Parts: sequence; C-alpha cells; structure tokens
Amino acid sequence: MSHSHPTSVNPDRLLETFLALLGIDSPSGEESAVIQELARRLEALGLETEVDSAGNLIGRLEGAGEPLLLCAHVDHVDPCRGIRPVVQDGVVRSDGTTILGADDTSGVAIILELLAIARERAHRGQEVPALDVVFTVSEETGLKGSKGLDISRLRARHGIVLDMGGPRGYITVQGPSHDHLEIVIHGKKSHAACAPEEGVNAIRVAAEAIAAMPLGRIDEATTANIGVIQGGTATNVVPDRVELKGEARSLEEERLRRQVDAMLRCLEEAAGRHGARIEAHVQRKYDAFRVPEDAPIVQMLCRSLRELGVEPTLIPTVGGSDSNIFNARGVQTVNISTGMEHVHSTDEYIALDDMVFCASVIAHMLKL
Ligand SMILES: [Zn+2]
Repeated sequence: MSHSHPTSVNPDRLLETFLALLGIDSPSGEESAVIQELARRLEALGLETEVDSAGNLIGRLEGAGEPLLLCAHVDHVDPCRGIRPVVQDGVVRSDGTTILGADDTSGVAIILELLAIARERAHRGQEVPALDVVFTVSEETGLKGSKGLDISRLRARHGIVLDMGGPRGYITVQGPSHDHLEIVIHGKKSHAACAPEEGVNAIRVAAEAIAAMPLGRIDEATTANIGVIQGGTATNVVPDRVELKGEARSLEEERLRRQVDAMLRCLEEAAGRHGARIEAHVQRKYDAFRVPEDAPIVQMLCRSLRELGVEPTLIPTVGGSDSNIFNARGVQTVNISTGMEHVHSTDEYIALDDMVFCASVIAHMLKL
C-alpha cells in the first residue's frame, strides 16, 4: 500500500453526473424533482436520507472518524429552464440561452463523486469516512434552505460548503454580516402649480438623503448600496411617498452598525429639513463569520492542498452563502472553489479539470 493516498476521482463519471443533474430544471423554490433524484442517488450510494420540512435533502454515511459536513445548494438562478450544456475542450458552458448552473450543481456533482469513491472503497472492504451530506434548496433567494435546516439533524461539527468560484486553493474563511434596508419617505401631497408650498416633496427628500449618504465601497470590509427607488405619480403632483431599497454589508459587525446608522441619519436629516417622515425597516439577512486559520477544517484542507502541490489562500468574501448559516449555528464551515466562473450569467462556465481538482482535494483529505 502506498503511504500517500492516491485519489481515484473518475473524471468521466463526474462529468456524466454533472450533465445528468443539469438536465433537471431546478429554479429556486421548484427543487423537488432534483431533490427526489438526489435522494435516489444517495440511497444507491449507501446513505440514509431524509428530506426536511424546508425541502433540504440530508444524507448520512456511516463511517470512521469525526463526521464531516459536505454541503452544496441545488437551486439555480434564472434563466435556468431547459439548460443545454455544451462540452468543448474540457470546458462546460450553456448554449448561451440560459445560465449553466455550475452554481451550484458543480458542488453537488463533486459530492456525489466523493460518495461514489467511498462506495467503491466500502465494496473493497476498506474504511470510509463518516459524512453528513446536505443539499440545500432556495440558497439563491436568501439562504432559505439552510436557514430552515434543523441543525440538530447533523452529527458534524465542521464541514465544507462547495459553492465558490475562483482559483484552485482558495478557501473562504470569512464572510460578511448583511443588512437589508426598506425605507418609506412620507411627504405631503399637493397640486404642484396651485399649491406647491403646501406639499412636502418626498422625491426631493430622497434625493438629498441619497446624495449625502456614504455608498459604494466604504472601507476594505464594508459596502453599501441603494438599489431601488420608486415614487411619484404625475408631474403636476408634489409626491408624498418614495420607497427605497438598499443594503449594507461588512465583515465587521461594528462597522456595519455604523454604516446603517449613517444611512438612516442622512434620511432623518433630509426629512427634518422638509417636514417629511421616515419609516425604516432594517432586516438582518445573515451574520458575519470568521473561521480561524488554526481551525481543524482549515488545517486539514491546507495540508491536502499542499500535498497536491497547491499553496492554499485564505480569503474573505463579500457574498453570503450557506456557510454563514452553518457557522452562526456552531458548525464551523469554510467555502471552497469548485472552479465555477461568471456565475449568474449566460456566460457561466466551468472546466472539468477544476471540478476534478476540487474533488481530489477533499478525497485526499478524507484519505479516500
Ligand atoms: Zn451558489
């Protein structure tokens, strides 16, 4: 027996799994067909499965060692109906009319490949690792699946989400807190020509407030945006209502709080100058996380990467993923690149070699 653990990722099988899954439409909220197919596959691979009340599929593989969580989401962003993947020179793309869905079916396919390798080992009478597999639904519409997941169904206390793009060896160990803002500016309606002095122009208040707001990249950890503005009915009416939607994110909780306060203060000040009233709803989407460099899951992944000749890079992300939710609930979780690129666009693509590499890193780590 070799002292290293030669990985036995099967690129053809991995590609076949990936393409087969892309053939099942799975827009957010309509994942039951793909969940059913995945449950069938997990059971065939020797896992015990359950679909929880949120619609997530949970699979358990009995085995040796501390259980590891492997997670990917099954839903796709639009346009994602009737995906027709095209494979050329080792790269998979859509036919240009839809997204590809490598986000995050590449993660799902890689997990199935790892389980297929484990199955082969079990058939040879060799030890397999204990794994908790979670395929989440509606990740793209606000992490709904992972938020609805009953974490007590899991044995694992640490794990890997496979839901990032970027180069080989990138490990996302830090993610932001995210606040969603919905604002209504209440002014006073009047006729714009007969009685303009009786009106309070909510559009003017919005304009002054937004012009004064710190927006965009606030610092290296913090961003903010006003993304939607709606208001007004006619040119001869002083508008009494404007609705704004925006967001702020930061890796640092304190900076996020200060940023949201600054945005609300600009609104209050502008409203105060004109006699308008502000109605503000701030909703926390998810909490920041930071997995320390010396955490076992980070150390194990780094060792595996180095043994495969790739120097690991620990990075923060500005985006939210299921790893925010797992970390908030005490399951220490990093997010790694499957190789997906240009996600959420019809230019999305993935190289089979990068998927194979991602699978190999985890297979090597698990001594498969
Ligand atoms: Zn994703």
